[in-house]
Amino acid sequence: MPPKPLLLDQLPQDWNLGAAPAYRRQQLTEWIFQKHAENFSHMTSLPASLRQHLAANYELNPLAHVRTQGSSDTTRKFLFQLADGDYLESVLIPANPALYGGRADRFTLCVSSQVGCAYGCKFCASGLNGFRRNLTTAEILAQIMVVGRLGGEKITNLVFMGMGEPLANYQNLMTAITVINSDWGLNLGARHITVSTSGLAPRIRDLADQPRQLRLAISLHGADDDTRDRLMPVNRKYPLAQLLDACAYYQSRKNQMLTFEFILIRDVNASAAQAALLAAHAKRLNAKINLIPCNPVAGLPWQRPADVDIKKFAGILKTAGVPATVRLEKGRDIDAACGQLRLRELEAKAES
Ligand code: SAH
Ligand code: SF4
Repeated sequence: MPPKPLLLDQLPQDWNLGAAPAYRRQQLTEWIFQKHAENFSHMTSLPASLRQHLAANYELNPLAHVRTQGSSDTTRKFLFQLADGDYLESVLIPANPALYGGRADRFTLCVSSQVGCAYGCKFCASGLNGFRRNLTTAEILAQIMVVGRLGGEKITNLVFMGMGEPLANYQNLMTAITVINSDWGLNLGARHITVSTSGLAPRIRDLADQPRQLRLAISLHGADDDTRDRLMPVNRKYPLAQLLDACAYYQSRKNQMLTFEFILIRDVNASAAQAALLAAHAKRLNAKINLIPCNPVAGLPWQRPADVDIKKFAGILKTAGVPATVRLEKGRDIDAACGQLRLRELEAKAES
């Protein structure tokens, strides 16, 4: 028997409810997105015949929870297994509690969009084993819904910065965002949703042309083509000028601040010259900058710069009047850098 379709791969308007009257669709929507029902049998306000019809025609949850790892600062990493056996991870990051009187009131979930990644950035664990497949809409949504249930926190922000290149899975991403952003769905504002891309210029333009005010983060990591070419093969396809033009277009359509992510790697991109170039790009595009001291990945040669060099780099941006933060590496002790937990799980399997 072929596997049953996942309910969350379809929008509510497309759900097959058999002969049930129209108002049942709304009830089912509430059970799924507001009451977070785990099972059709829990949906007690629906008649038994409809619950049976749904259970016969649909699967509800595509993710099996394998384990949760928490670290001392309460960043938590959720490892899931997909129906086809592969692994997926999502990371829940509290806002710095010290800033909020000791208790975090913002929780950001870092969501994956693909299994593996085809873009092969040289510092990234997600690309190491190549690309496996796109996540479906249901698999994207379930990360948010299941972590919400297991983590017991209200997720206030989403960042598509987990495994994979979200803009290479555009259709499923946008369907998921429709559900995330709708008041009948997960009801999270578009400005609380950040899409991070390695620089798929044509897709950035598509994102600019769709109506939602999504936040956009660009993984820049090099301030000129030579440096970027060394780290990110995607730069040969969409070189810096083309990427920055697409960013300018996004900004002209959305009127909001872009974010440039910039991993700092010793002897590669952490020089004063890179900082000055980066500051110029950021000023021109009114972007802020997230500096991320490189996380070590087993088997890769890259190292983080000395603290004094990180400070110097940030200082150059500051002097140029560009807002910049050095990202606190929450969860470094649990391998929160993208893709690393899945990789370890695959290696453990290979050894056993
Ligand atoms: N594919 C998208 C989103 C996922 S990667 C993108 O590239 O933007 C999310 C972020 O994690 C990116 O900025 C990526 O460059 C960063 N990242 C990947 N490997 C890293 C490492 N070893 N150390 C620090 N950040 C890393
Ligand atoms: Fe893919 Fe992003 Fe990792 Fe590059 S940084 S390999 S685009 S997940």
